[in-house]
Amino acid sequence: MKYDIPHFVIKNNLQKSKQTNVYFGDVVTPEVLKDVCKRITDLDNYTYEYVDDEYTDDFLDPTYNKGRMALLHYKDEVMYISFSEKDINGRNSSVQSVPTAFNLFFSNTYKNKKLYYYFLNVEGNPETDYHVLIYRLMKTIGFHFLNDEVLQHKIVPFSSIEDIMFNRKINSGKNKSNNSTYITKSTVRNYDIYGKTYGANKYETSLICYALSILAKKEQRITLYEVLEQDLKELPKSSLNVINGMGVIRVVPTDLQLEKKAFEENNSLRSPRYIYNLLNKLGKKHCAMCGCEIPEIIQGAHIWPVALIKKQGHISFEDKLQHATNGDNGLWLCENHHKLFDQNIILITHSGNITFSKSLSTENETFLSNITTFKQIPNEIMTPQFVQYLDLRNKAI
Ligand SMILES: [Zn+2]
Repeated sequence: MKYDIPHFVIKNNLQKSKQTNVYFGDVVTPEVLKDVCKRITDLDNYTYEYVDDEYTDDFLDPTYNKGRMALLHYKDEVMYISFSEKDINGRNSSVQSVPTAFNLFFSNTYKNKKLYYYFLNVEGNPETDYHVLIYRLMKTIGFHFLNDEVLQHKIVPFSSIEDIMFNRKINSGKNKSNNSTYITKSTVRNYDIYGKTYGANKYETSLICYALSILAKKEQRITLYEVLEQDLKELPKSSLNVINGMGVIRVVPTDLQLEKKAFEENNSLRSPRYIYNLLNKLGKKHCAMCGCEIPEIIQGAHIWPVALIKKQGHISFEDKLQHATNGDNGLWLCENHHKLFDQNIILITHSGNITFSKSLSTENETFLSNITTFKQIPNEIMTPQFVQYLDLRNKAI
């Protein structure tokens, strides 16, 4: 249908409207609509209708207002406009509706469509590092910001996957808890996303996947490892559909049964949860003994080895798996140092000194000394639990 006058169609019920008695029309008022209309079409004249859950057309499903959206029809264009919360504080607020809005936008096959975001009268702090990251991801995946003059900083889209990785690193330096999703390299061209799927984390994981799908160059390969959290092992279906629809990312779901089986059958556990916990504690992959950063040869090395954990008679299977995937029970090591450490040719003392086996010849010791540029495990890694694992390891040698 063609609209000669801009026309809004808006679902009035929010998810919890019945409990809160707050309806979308209370926050997205005709005045707000007027401003939105002017900014998009440059016209003052518009019509609008707030519709019930049951209402359905080519763009709206019979449900409540998912994605905090208004649809604006003008001529043969359809504008998806998603609105911020009024009060922007926690990670949940505002952000959770964004992937939903994008999912609805992406899933509709209508060609002449655009995606917008509008800040309602903002209270709180809309410009934490975390929010800025989200805005930049949004801009990267095609959101147009209608009134970003309410922010102090201009929103710049990301230019590459490396650009996102670099900015996440800056974020993580300031506040560790901000890291719910990690992007890391397994080879020069292969990127791995370790994404949590629970609570607010799933929104961030979804957005990062969308942005990486858009930014990936032809030769770059991306894998998403969904990291187990509580009982949820997968992103919401709607997000997975979009990720699959974009056709760039290979999704590897995690499964507790598979993880248990891998733990039972192998002494070198390659669990996404373990890698995630190491990224969370140690940051970017780099060898703790020589600083090597070549992703192809950096591995997670257990301090208390999986083989020894499995031999413990007095602890439950669940606890064993917990020790095997604990971020304190590991270091990033290059393949050389990993092997040397596993063979107890290189040792780490209770106080974190990196030393060599007494049985080495002088030549070999000199060689090891040359390739082992770090002599000490950094203090921030030497947490009490890390030291406990060191003691358990050293006791067994
Ligand atoms: Zn190394």
